[in-house]
Amino acid sequence: MSDSPQANIAVVGLAVMGSNLARNLASREGNTVAVFNRSWSKTETLITEHPEAGLIAAKDYQELADSLTTPRTAIIMVQAGKGTDAVIDELTKVFEPGDIIVDGGNALFTDTIRREKAVRETGINFVGAGISGGEEGALNGPSIMPGGSDESWVTLGPILTSIAAVAEGEPCVTHVGHDGAGHFVKMIHNGIEYADMQLIAEAYDLIRRGTGKTPTEIADIFTEWNKGDLESYLIEITAEVLRQNDAETGKPLVDVILDQAGAKGTGAWTVKSALDLGIPVSGIAEAVFARSLSSKPAQRAAAADLPGPSTAWAVAPEDADAFVEDVRRALYASKIVAYSQGFDEIVAGAEEYGWNIQKGEIAKIWRGGCIIRARFLNRITDAYAENPELVALLTAPFFRDVLVEGQEAWRRVVVAATQSGIPAPAFSSSLAYYDGLRAERLPAALVQGQRDFFGAHTYKRVDKQGTFHTLWSGDRTEIEATDAH
Ligand code: NAP
Repeated sequence: MSDSPQANIAVVGLAVMGSNLARNLASREGNTVAVFNRSWSKTETLITEHPEAGLIAAKDYQELADSLTTPRTAIIMVQAGKGTDAVIDELTKVFEPGDIIVDGGNALFTDTIRREKAVRETGINFVGAGISGGEEGALNGPSIMPGGSDESWVTLGPILTSIAAVAEGEPCVTHVGHDGAGHFVKMIHNGIEYADMQLIAEAYDLIRRGTGKTPTEIADIFTEWNKGDLESYLIEITAEVLRQNDAETGKPLVDVILDQAGAKGTGAWTVKSALDLGIPVSGIAEAVFARSLSSKPAQRAAAADLPGPSTAWAVAPEDADAFVEDVRRALYASKIVAYSQGFDEIVAGAEEYGWNIQKGEIAKIWRGGCIIRARFLNRITDAYAENPELVALLTAPFFRDVLVEGQEAWRRVVVAATQSGIPAPAFSSSLAYYDGLRAERLPAALVQGQRDFFGAHTYKRVDKQGTFHTLWSGDRTEIEATDAH
């Protein structure tokens, strides 16, 4: 290593994500990349296998800091949690005020807020950046959601822009907001991803069990859908998964894979945060719970002989095309609900934590590089451009039209699922959400009555101002709540 600093950016943590990100950075003009990993073997493998990247390998944190021009900038790509804290501790010892530490891992946004506050006290900038797209995205261009200070964005912006995915000529990166805003938005991205995947899985299940089509035939349907409004990475890969046969048995691979879905926790974070913020992300929550239910083999085995509907259900062959079209519409409508709920949570989070998040920009940076990239994200950007104060995404004119056209089909699909005993929790809960939002009057009035009965929690009236309580145990007269407890 030469004595004078040469690298403008460092990557710490060289497992699959860090290695690929380092190679991506090194491949862009103007970047020289220093790398460090806790155990030397990963560093050695990377520099040996990719000499073309011209990586500067550091053996310890001091060497890493010495190899960097100022402001020193390092992206951490290590195991989220304790690993991230350990690396931050080391970097703050060798970095100086004005330098920048970026956490590109999947951190919980509240951890990022805590870390940003602590690191800021040393004069060093800390940026939590959500990076989506998996290992392929890290190598070729991810969607990047950075938070952190405006000062750090001056240095970091051009570097991240150089490696981000490009969608319709625009880089998939924007300065999301301060401190934990980037990781918060990445969390919502993952929550929407859970919903999208579950909805697609329900669509497949209903078509297969309703029409008896084979996975290959359903793959053809998804390929067709991918040419229209539903065009997206997840629809595209679903067709590929369904087309795959198992080499060993010759069966469709989807029939050989154990039906227990795993999760790494970001979907659950989205739901927990939504509960804290009081935002009904029911479609996302059902998707998270559907994975949990699938992964309860003992309970599933115990319940397996409980009865289902008494009559068998099948779509008549002449109705199969119409049913498939109904399912497509139900999928599209439910997907709009999932995004609408996700953006509601972004709005609520921004308000709670004081972030100035441009919703249209978020939809833009999700158009490329990330798992939920989809054609219809342009429609979200348009909707917020037209009306930045839009109170619910699903009421934007374009989405409203889709729902108006699709809602009857959506109902038929949920009825079919219910009558046939096929679980479609994300389809049904999304429809219930839609009906809940549009209801003129909700039974919440009765809930308020119950709350007032047992807890004197009071209620408001439709016909006059004020807060009221009924004396339920007395003569049941109503009093102004200021007089109640
Ligand atoms: P990972 O398996 O999550 O983590 C392994 C890396 O963390 C290794 O380099 C390991 O170093 C390092 N590490 C663990 N504890 C450490 C500590 N106490 N001090 C220093 N280094 C430590 O790696 P990954 O799959 O590449 O993911 C990296 C980050 O990106 C994670 O936060 C992950 O959630 C996020 N992410 C991953 C994906 C994906 O598709 N994999 C997608 C988006 C985001 P050693 O080699 O010394 O053990």
